[in-house]
Amino acid sequence: MEIQTVMVVGAGQMGSGIAQVHTQAGYNVYLHDIDDERTGKGLKSIEKNLKRQEEKGRMTKEEVEEVLARITLSTDIENAKHADLVVEAAVENMEVKKSLFQQLDEHAPSHAILATNTSSLPITDIASATNRPEQVIGMHFMNPVPVMKLVELIRGLATSDEVYNHVKAVCDSLNKTSVEVNDYPGFAANRILMPMINEAIYAVYEGVASPEDIDQVMKLGMNHPMGPLTLADFIGLDTCLYIMETLHEGLGDDKYRPCPLLRKYVNAGWYGRKTGRGFYTYE
Ligand code: NAD
Repeated sequence: MEIQTVMVVGAGQMGSGIAQVHTQAGYNVYLHDIDDERTGKGLKSIEKNLKRQEEKGRMTKEEVEEVLARITLSTDIENAKHADLVVEAAVENMEVKKSLFQQLDEHAPSHAILATNTSSLPITDIASATNRPEQVIGMHFMNPVPVMKLVELIRGLATSDEVYNHVKAVCDSLNKTSVEVNDYPGFAANRILMPMINEAIYAVYEGVASPEDIDQVMKLGMNHPMGPLTLADFIGLDTCLYIMETLHEGLGDDKYRPCPLLRKYVNAGWYGRKTGRGFYTYE
């Protein structure tokens, strides 16, 4: 099977980036969301990124136009009928994802692969909403998608080798590096990253050091490009809490319990960068 047309479901932060890297690699892309306003917003963000590349001399005006011409906006899930590969990047909610996968299974051609960009929900559960669990896989891109090299490929219990190999080849064509991961809570990236962030929050909570000093320790001492608390604010503290809860519940080990300070900040509406306040304040 040759993958030519890709449908990206969800035109938010991740979906628009996923659509951008696919169209830049030459695939035809349907960018789907629930209404025109959201698909329009997704397209605007792609246009803005490509314009920046044009200004930096990395793309010509003609190339930008060609890339944009490969994108079709969609608010009708029936457009899945055109897709060889669907990458779902809608909200992180199991009910929404299962309902979407049921519809995608109904409309996508029988050969089509259905991938999800979920950061924490079990691939095997999502696949159970379809009649093709062997063709369902996790394709976990990192944020911001056009910049970050890594894609975690997560095999559900039933994912076939053939499907894995097709999706790996797609990642290669996007100039991304993929790693193979099995379907356990948090996969590999968040299983390791989130407990580190949670521990940094515990260090603030217990008065070990200030957020600034904890970030300095990890930047200057461990050569991390960004301190864990700056990173937590960037990811969103609500997202960090949600993933810690998934790890705690899924693995049943108290070493994953979310720090009470993280919960307090989220309850206060301090989600980090997106609300203007988290461990740091933002204009
Ligand atoms: P977002 O809120 O920016 O975008 C989600 C989009 O999905 C919205 O535009 C929304 O309208 C759309 N949507 C909701 N229900 C839909 C439906 N039924 N059909 C079609 N579209 C629908 O969220 P995001 O940050 O782009 O995250 C999307 C997915 O990617 C989530 O599963 C998230 O866990 C995962 N993810 C996020 C990050 C990150 O850093 N933000 C990183 C990796 C993976």
